Amino acid sequence: MILSIETENKTYKIDSENPLDISIPLEFDALQPNIYGVEKASAKAYQDEHFVGDTRRGGSCNFENLSVNTHCNGTHTECVGHITHQRISIQECLKDAFMLAELITVLPENALKTQDTYSVKLNENDLLITKKSLENSLFNQKSKIKNQKSLIIRTLPNSESKKNRDYSVENPPFFSLEAMKFIVEIGVKHLLVDVPSLERLHDEGKLANHRIFWNVEQGSFEINSQTYLNNTVTEMIYVSDKIVDGTYLLNLQIAPFVADASPSRPILFEIKHLTE
Ligand SMILES: [Zn+2]
Repeated sequence: MILSIETENKTYKIDSENPLDISIPLEFDALQPNIYGVEKASAKAYQDEHFVGDTRRGGSCNFENLSVNTHCNGTHTECVGHITHQRISIQECLKDAFMLAELITVLPENALKTQDTYSVKLNENDLLITKKSLENSLFNQKSKIKNQKSLIIRTLPNSESKKNRDYSVENPPFFSLEAMKFIVEIGVKHLLVDVPSLERLHDEGKLANHRIFWNVEQGSFEINSQTYLNNTVTEMIYVSDKIVDGTYLLNLQIAPFVADASPSRPILFEIKHLTE
């Protein structure tokens, strides 16, 4: 089905039957991405004395108990409830079903070779996504539409191993404070990244970039009247090299979990034609 969308007085078209999935499929019986060495996501057939939820073992149908650590086992979308005492859920925060998104590709830099800063002392193994690298990528790209609500960031190198990387062994890149302030300044409400966190995985618990993105005071666990309650962060996506940088329509799908985060499936639609 061809759908047309109108924004900024122009009409664009998308093919609803050709989505580009940028989530990492969560395979319960295979390799998965993982941070902090948490337990793998698992699926186990339900069983009691009368029933087994596995047709191969005589059950009438399959049903399984799933165990997932949303933040550590794969693609997920989170809200400000990730860093507040007040339990705020992604299900209530995510209001946008469709949004225009800009996909860019950036090359993280050695943290000691940039002027950008971070909340804890950095060393030569740290790779930073800097403000300059974001500015350059956005500037070099002739965006079809201005003022997109969403930014999707693919980091280089873009190996398929991101789909099942053990981040307790490999250090992922993360954002400088300047980069995160820049993202907020340009009006991004939904940020999607292919790294497991906006932060260094060991940041002394500061979560400074998360606080910048949602506008929560550094060190605080409380929202305030200026907090961006409807902003979301999606981590651990994987954007295939087949998907080129540019403007897309994004459909950010989550499970209706009343929790700070949910496993998610962001899908993109190419913007096919446009008319003035
Ligand atoms: Zn997370």
